Amino acid sequence: MSSAVVSADVEPSETEFEREMRTALEEIAVEAAKIIGFQDCAIALYHPTANELRTLASSNPTLDAPSRRFAPGEGVAGHVALAMRPILIRDVSQDPRFLDLRQRPIASALCVPIVHEDSRLMGTITAVSSKVGAFDEHDLRMLEVLAEMASLSICYIFRAHQLRVLNRIGQRLLRVSTLDDVMALLVEELGSLIPLDLLRLEIKSPAGSVARPPLYWFAPDIRPVRPHMDFDQGLIQRARILPAEEVARGLRVAPDDLSCKSFVVVPLRVDTEVHGTLVAGTRHTAAYAHEDLGAVETAAIQAALWVRNHLLYEQLRLQNERVEAFFAYSSDAVLMLAKDRIVNLNEAACRLLGIEAEDCVGRRREEVLELAPVTTREPGASPLYVLSTPRGEREVEMNESGIVVEGVEHRIVTLRDVTEQRDLDRAKANFISMVSHELRTPLNSVLGFSDILITGAPGPLTERQHEFLEHIRSSSRHLVQLVNDILDLSRLDAGAFSLSRGPFLPGMLAQQVAAEMSGLAREAGVDLDLKVAEALPKADGDGGRIKQVLINLVGNALKFTPEGGSVTVEVEAGEDEVTFSVRDTGPGIPEAEQGKVFERFYQSVQSPRLATKGSGLGLTIAKLLVERHGGRIWIESEPGRGSTFRFTVPAIPEVRRDQVGASAQD
Ligand code: ADP
Repeated sequence: MSSAVVSADVEPSETEFEREMRTALEEIAVEAAKIIGFQDCAIALYHPTANELRTLASSNPTLDAPSRRFAPGEGVAGHVALAMRPILIRDVSQDPRFLDLRQRPIASALCVPIVHEDSRLMGTITAVSSKVGAFDEHDLRMLEVLAEMASLSICYIFRAHQLRVLNRIGQRLLRVSTLDDVMALLVEELGSLIPLDLLRLEIKSPAGSVARPPLYWFAPDIRPVRPHMDFDQGLIQRARILPAEEVARGLRVAPDDLSCKSFVVVPLRVDTEVHGTLVAGTRHTAAYAHEDLGAVETAAIQAALWVRNHLLYEQLRLQNERVEAFFAYSSDAVLMLAKDRIVNLNEAACRLLGIEAEDCVGRRREEVLELAPVTTREPGASPLYVLSTPRGEREVEMNESGIVVEGVEHRIVTLRDVTEQRDLDRAKANFISMVSHELRTPLNSVLGFSDILITGAPGPLTERQHEFLEHIRSSSRHLVQLVNDILDLSRLDAGAFSLSRGPFLPGMLAQQVAAEMSGLAREAGVDLDLKVAEALPKADGDGGRIKQVLINLVGNALKFTPEGGSVTVEVEAGEDEVTFSVRDTGPGIPEAEQGKVFERFYQSVQSPRLATKGSGLGLTIAKLLVERHGGRIWIESEPGRGSTFRFTVPAIPEVRRDQVGASAQD
């Protein structure tokens, strides 16, 4: 009987885990031989994927070669493995099942299966002796206790190994940066824990992405069946061991199409969010046990964290790239400021300001942006500024907004160079202004001569001639009005329109307008009333232009009010302004159209006959004029109940009123 520890022939590829397992089992074998006095004791482990037993440890390797592989059913241990029951052979030569054992110096034998707590076969422990009848029932029970010890040891060593591997997966995941690397390390590490012929890692596409979900596949010689398959969601709700039939059903393929026969399917979940699926597979049937599932699940938890972080990072990177591209390729100049200092600017900003980015970053806003506001701008449009640059002055539209980046308030300043566009607009407006001006002179002459002809002074007219002259006169008036409107508008657009501001008496102005328009009102059969509040302040503005606005509003009111109706002009005092209003009993203006009446050339489709008498420019000019005064103009109207147009003009402040009043009276 040998009590020496004899190591099995170490296979060159023996892993740390295998060595640990062999050493532990050798100790049990040697101890058993020592304590009980067996001649030899050998332990074989069952490898389900290969369906074979391999002798791993032996107290006397001359009797049972280490690393010997044999099938269940073969020899004493093979017989016990198949039957899963212990066996006591008192005299081998008497037992026809083991006749071949006589070739070796073995006369009696004892063998017990090593069984897992879940009843799986783990291996066998065999004692042999060269003496007949060397073992009895007591020895058998002894060996059973040793088998239990071996079972516990194997489980313990395997668990420890599992924990080490899972821990290593976590550690290694911290250092890898691509999904290929993740895949490679999972294949390597999981392959040391479970039977693994296939590993499939599918990552869900991030929200908003149209790309096909990335799929990572490891299987040296297995062709993917429907590589981009959608697993039945029900199958991947939780980690599961699945037979091929069920996976095939989940993938809507035939079970024979799948090369693997057992699968572990685990969702890659972090908190409640599923980021993908991890599938492990093997060609062997029913190959996965509960603890394999646990191992894959633990690996999947760690992989899921990696994937989640990776997806977040990718999302941020993409977002960043988009923002960078947007910022870099914008034709508008964009500057980013924090605490009033420039922190970033794009190419267009460098071009506009004529400086390099590095000369600009870190400097205060006012050192870089020399801006003077331009006031001749239509309200609602972006504010206009003159920007001084090394290239000269540029006209720019400026917009500014705030964002919070990493808890710090940042300002985003956008500048659009509109110099060329403004020059073009001005040239266009100047041209129109010139043409209109040129038109006005001959038109006035047509009007003047038709006025003279109609008096009959140059000679008598027939009734037909008189009638035709009336047409010429009315059309000429209309044309003169149109040309005047276009001229006003083009001057306002070109910024070549100056107001001669001063104090004026708003009540008196309204009286003049009422008097001038009374003839027109009479012709139209409409009452024209005037209501002027007492103690009105003086207004501050260009009296001539404000009169033009009021005439336009009263003219419109008379034009659109049917015979028998009334138009009321009212002047009231506001806090620091004077309000003029023109109320009529005409058709009113539907709400949807109210904003449009101030647009250029807008004429309502509701009264096409009346509209032909106008140009569609009167209210546009009125609005521009009022706003140039710093006032407001608006409509209150209900269809069928008339319209009221109101506008305000700034009043002269109380304190100055006496002095101004005195000079106005002079
Ligand atoms: P127009 O010279 O054509 O009158 P305006 O700019 O003065 O041009 O007016 C634009 C349009 O607004 C008119 O064609 C008409 O449809 C509508 N409008 C203006 N004033 C009134 C009003 N008092 N009642 C009803 N509609 C009006």
